[in-house]
Amino acid sequence: MSQMLCEVTKAFEAYREFTEEKLCGRCLPCMTAAPIIIDTLERLRRGDATMAEIDQLESICTQVMIVALCKHGQKAATNLSRAVKDHREAFRRHAEEKLCPEQSCREVLRYRVNPERCTQCDKCRAVCAAGAILGDPYLPYRTDNEPYVIIMEKCTRCGECLAVCSDEAIEVV
Ligand code: SF4
Ligand code: SF4
Ligand code: SF4
Repeated sequence: MSQMLCEVTKAFEAYREFTEEKLCGRCLPCMTAAPIIIDTLERLRRGDATMAEIDQLESICTQVMIVALCKHGQKAATNLSRAVKDHREAFRRHAEEKLCPEQSCREVLRYRVNPERCTQCDKCRAVCAAGAILGDPYLPYRTDNEPYVIIMEKCTRCGECLAVCSDEAIEVV
């Protein structure tokens, strides 16, 4: 699995660093914007925020950029606004498709079995502690083997099935 951070995560980490190291509370707009921004980015990383909230993020940043008293608050808002503008497609995919293009937001990852590659060896089902994988192992004398599928409602995104599948039949999107 890719270890790269997605643009939403990078924006979140940069803004969180600002709140932990520089946010002082001297001016109200910067202070009140911070928890809203953090909450929105956290939910976006879980696939639980909307495009309207992304637009609202930009609007909040614009207001903070205008009234922030210090360069730290201005810079944090400017950088976040720029990230949303420059990487809008990545933000949109998290919000609308519940996908993380770089696979770094664990909560929005979706696992699936590629039937073209799956040899029905059963290793993934055996290792899945969540019971999220259904399917029948291949038996040459049977013609009714059910193909392997992953039930995302049960999946904990632990990645164990990926590790054991030697046919690279499990995909993360
Ligand atoms: S803009 Fe600067 S001075 Fe104002 S609350 Fe933020 S960090 Fe503090
Ligand atoms: S481990 Fe891979 S090849 Fe084996 S059943 Fe699971 S998805 Fe198919
Ligand atoms: S990621 Fe973990 S919980 Fe999800 S299907 Fe694979 S083994 Fe099961």
